[in-house]
Amino acid sequence: MANKQVLVLGAGQLARMMSLAGAPLNIDISAFDVGSEQIVHPLTKNVIGHGLNNAIASADVITAEFEHIPHSVLDICEKSGKFLPTTQAIKAGGDRRIEKQLLNDSKAANAKYAIIEKRADLDAAIEFVGIPMVLKTALGGYDGKGQWRLTDAKQVDQIWKKVSAAIEATPHQAVVAEEFVPFEREVSLVGARRVNGEVAIYPLAENVHVNGVLSLSVAIDEPELQSQAATMFTAIAEQLDYVGVLAIEFFDVKGKLLVNEIAPRVHNSGHWTQQGAEVCQFENHLRAVCNLPLGSTQAIRHTAMVNILGQNRVPESVLSMPQCHIHWYGKEQRPGRKMGHINVCGHSHQEMKEILTQLASVLEPAAFPELKDRVSKL
Ligand code: AMP
Repeated sequence: MANKQVLVLGAGQLARMMSLAGAPLNIDISAFDVGSEQIVHPLTKNVIGHGLNNAIASADVITAEFEHIPHSVLDICEKSGKFLPTTQAIKAGGDRRIEKQLLNDSKAANAKYAIIEKRADLDAAIEFVGIPMVLKTALGGYDGKGQWRLTDAKQVDQIWKKVSAAIEATPHQAVVAEEFVPFEREVSLVGARRVNGEVAIYPLAENVHVNGVLSLSVAIDEPELQSQAATMFTAIAEQLDYVGVLAIEFFDVKGKLLVNEIAPRVHNSGHWTQQGAEVCQFENHLRAVCNLPLGSTQAIRHTAMVNILGQNRVPESVLSMPQCHIHWYGKEQRPGRKMGHINVCGHSHQEMKEILTQLASVLEPAAFPELKDRVSKL
C-alpha cells in the first residue's frame, strides 16, 4: 500500500478529521480553501500553497467536505480525472432540484414537491402539494436556513414576498415546495461505496435538531428501519456511481422512511463512528476514494454524539468521565458555530444514557439547549 496525497475541497473540521484518520494509513491530506484559493494544512491551517491548479497537480485524489462549491471549480476538478465521489453527486447535494430528481430516479421515497420560480408556480404548488407545505431555497440552504412554512392560505401573499426576494437575490435560484411531513423523528444513514460497487453501511443514527442545527446523534439498532435505509442508500449510491462516504437524512413516519436530503460527504451525524464503530466514517471515506478495501462499519459499543455549539471550552471534568471523548475543531469562536463534539459510549444503552446524563449535568444548559431533556427520553 503506497502513500497517497488526498486534496479536500474545504478546510473545515471534516478535512481536519479526515487528516487525523488518514495518518495511520499513510494518507496525507491537504485542504483547499475555495474562498481564498489557499492550500492549507488541515490541522495547523498553515498555508502550503496557492491556486486550484497547483492543488490539483500535487494530489493523487480530490474529494470534498461540503457541497456548496462553485460549479466552475467542480468542472476543473472533474477534468483532472481525480475527483471523487463524482461532481454530479456534489451538485445534487448543493441543489435541491437536482437532489429531488435523483431521489425519484433512485425510487427513494421522499416528500411530494414542486419547483417555484414565479408566482403562478406557487399557486400550482399549493394545488399539487397542498397546505401545510415547507418551502426551501434550491441553492445555498443548510441547517434549516432559507426555509419557510406555509400553514394557512391567508399567508400566501406574505410568503410570496419572502420567496420572490430569495429567488431574485441569487442567480439560478428557485424554491422547492415540499409537502409537510408529520414525522415522529429524524434518522440518518452513513455508508461508503467503493468503485467496484462494494458498500459498507453504518447503523442508523437518531438525530435531535435544536433550532435547525444538529445537537445530539445516537446510534440505533433497529433492523427493519436499517433495511429500508440501506436499500435506499444502495439505490442512490448506484444511481450516482458514487465513490466515498454518502450520508442520507430521513424522516421516520410511523416506521416508514422518507428521504429528507442527502449529503455527498462525511457527515456530522456520523461522528459517533470515531469511537463507536470498528472503522470510522473518515477513514472509510479515505479508503473508498483511494480504492482500498473498506473497513468494518459494525458498531462496537453503544455511542452517542453531542455537538458543542458556539462554546470554546467545556469543564475539564468531562475528561475524567469514563467513555467520554472530546473532539475540538480548532475554530474561532462564534455564536452557534460548530466548535467540536463529544462522543459518549457505554457497554449498554443504559450505561451510555447514565454517562450522557452525567455529562448533561456539568455542561452549561444555555450552550446545550434541551440536552438534559432529550437524554432523559432516550
Ligand atoms: P433541511 O434543511 O431540509 O434538513 O430541513 C431542516 C429541518 O426542517 C429538518 O431537519 C426538519 O426538521 C424540518 N423539515 C424539512 N423539511 C420538512 C418537511 N417536508 N416536513 C416537515 N419538516 C421538515
